[in-house]
Amino acid sequence: MINGIKLIEIIIPIYNEENNISLICEEIFKLKVEKIKFLIHYIDDGSKDNSWKLIKDLSNKYEHVNGTKLTRNFGKDHAILAGIQKCKSDFALIMDGDLQHPVNTIIELVHKINSENCDVVTGNKIYQDQSFFRTVYYYIFKQLTAIDLKNNSDFKIINKKVINFLTQSTEKNFFFRGMIEWSGFKLDKVDFKVGERIHGKSKYNFSSLLHIGFNSIFSYSTTPLRLITISGLILLFISSLLFLRTIYLKIFSTVFDGYTSLMILILIFLSFLIISVGVVGEYLAKIYTEIKYRPPYIIYETTKK
Ligand code: UDP
Ligand code: MG
Repeated sequence: MINGIKLIEIIIPIYNEENNISLICEEIFKLKVEKIKFLIHYIDDGSKDNSWKLIKDLSNKYEHVNGTKLTRNFGKDHAILAGIQKCKSDFALIMDGDLQHPVNTIIELVHKINSENCDVVTGNKIYQDQSFFRTVYYYIFKQLTAIDLKNNSDFKIINKKVINFLTQSTEKNFFFRGMIEWSGFKLDKVDFKVGERIHGKSKYNFSSLLHIGFNSIFSYSTTPLRLITISGLILLFISSLLFLRTIYLKIFSTVFDGYTSLMILILIFLSFLIISVGVVGEYLAKIYTEIKYRPPYIIYETTKK
């Protein structure tokens, strides 16, 4: 029995999904969950194909379809934020537009947020063929931030408290999953099997994942800075020993240290130095982005007011 939920706004970020847009809409409107109505918000994240035209057509055809077009590609997380900031009702559900998040699982998400005393219900991926790179990234992310993203997904339903919190978010490097885990709202989950992508292909290649990976790690953890300090101390200790050894050799022996050991030392110290400057630079870049006060996304046009 669903208590008082009348409307759920479904946010779907879209980047070149022309073959999936109407399919997902039809599937959602076929769902029967007691007396609940669904309102779909497609957020076109700078698609270069026919996606926006299809969204406009659907919005003309159905009262419960809205379209928002961003000026360019701002990234999935920012498209999700744009959608959440459009929500007016008490519940928002976020899902991918490629049907990899099964539409039927919506029913379970809705029932769980209704029956349990929680603010967010997340779709928990029980099985997905994951690239080696993603596995390594999730592992490092967990070590550095204590947030486990391995089975986590953007497939979530959130209540008004969370919508209000995210609506006020001014963070420029918005990372949806990270923000939810960080926020401390009451979480629960529902298992789902990630579907196959039938049309189109994944929008993430090695370099975009690397970009997102660095971005999210530096947004959610300052451990890399701490690691630099710790490694600096360890290196200081090693250099002190080497310093003593050099003095000892100078006094008690005529033997000169070889070229090899010198080169090795220089190389190790130089690479450490460059990496450290790089890490500090990453945080500087983050601060720079935040203080520019630029919006995380820009809306170009919407289909309905
Ligand atoms: N997406 C987006 N902006 C982007 C990349 C992706 O809005 O810059 C959307 C995409 O259209 C899809 C969802 O985010 O609806 C998930 O993308 P994808 O299927 O490529 O990710 P994967 O399943 O490989 O994690
Ligand atoms: Mg996908």
